[in-house]
Amino acid sequence: MGFSPHIGRANLWETSGHLDFYKDSMYAPMDIEGEAYYAKPMNCPFHIEIYKTHLRSYRDLPRRYAEYGTVYRFERSGSLHGLTRVRGFTQDDAHIFCRPDQVEAEISGALEFSLYVLRSFGLTDFTSYLSTRPEKYVGEAADWDRATAALERAVIAHNLPYEVDEGGGAFYGPKIDLKVKDALGREWQLSTIQFDFNLPERFGLEYIGEDNQPHRPYMVHRALLGSIERFFGVLIEHFAGAFPVWLAPVQAVLIPITDKQIEYALAVKARLEALGVRLEIDDSRDRMQAKIRRAQLQKVPYMLIIGGKEQEAEAVAVRLRSGEDLGALPVDTFIERIQREIAERV
Ligand SMILES: [Zn+2]
Repeated sequence: MGFSPHIGRANLWETSGHLDFYKDSMYAPMDIEGEAYYAKPMNCPFHIEIYKTHLRSYRDLPRRYAEYGTVYRFERSGSLHGLTRVRGFTQDDAHIFCRPDQVEAEISGALEFSLYVLRSFGLTDFTSYLSTRPEKYVGEAADWDRATAALERAVIAHNLPYEVDEGGGAFYGPKIDLKVKDALGREWQLSTIQFDFNLPERFGLEYIGEDNQPHRPYMVHRALLGSIERFFGVLIEHFAGAFPVWLAPVQAVLIPITDKQIEYALAVKARLEALGVRLEIDDSRDRMQAKIRRAQLQKVPYMLIIGGKEQEAEAVAVRLRSGEDLGALPVDTFIERIQREIAERV
């Protein structure tokens, strides 16, 4: 395993007294120049620590902490798979600490946010799974009921088809998982909104209520994409590598037909780059057809072919990766088109 700055220092946890909790989910420490280092398996305790740095009042809530947190889990080598099952990954993780009367709005907001993000990436086929209280659980039944009802109302309000996994929740709280079907009809679990009645208790989280008494906040773990690595694995499969323009790593390739057009091609490239468009120029010695073919294989959305005529007319001849030929367009027209597609995430 490589070492990265994301690996936590054990003594941070010793001083805060939570190492025991954390140890349950960790592996043997690594000895690095006499200090014990652990691979961080989750982000939750760090957000709890931030919450605990101050005495919180009911007016301070909700508090939402979010990060791209790098975590490590042991997966057997046989189960590792591309980007979809890895040992080190990045969660778009957040924890919401709120009052009971804020639960409804927080859950609805988190679900709304998940749907917005997933739909922005072109995913539209969702099913949600609501997992409810199992036989063995921590916390108060009334809190579970309130949380479960909030989750259910949120999926109904967002018109999501859902299935209830009765008694299938973790011992510490009910949750909703959003599963998404990719273009091949395979279902992937992405977003999760998970209540937690265990950690606030275990770490003694409090806020001072309007009554001047200490109260326990509700805690919700939420991930939108889940694991960034897996999400991109799913996206690559979903689009079969042919990303929409706004996501494509290279959005256009400029193909000058002869060396005489290279200078003009560079000028066009500079103009587009200044607008944030990601593009390359293929000034290899290959023939035009070979260049077009290569760009198509790389699934680059646009090929901009430049010959003497295009140069004279301040135009580019536009081809799509599908093979469709849009003919010569003035550079200004092409710029309008690609900027609109990027802005609207077409
Ligand atoms: Zn968490």
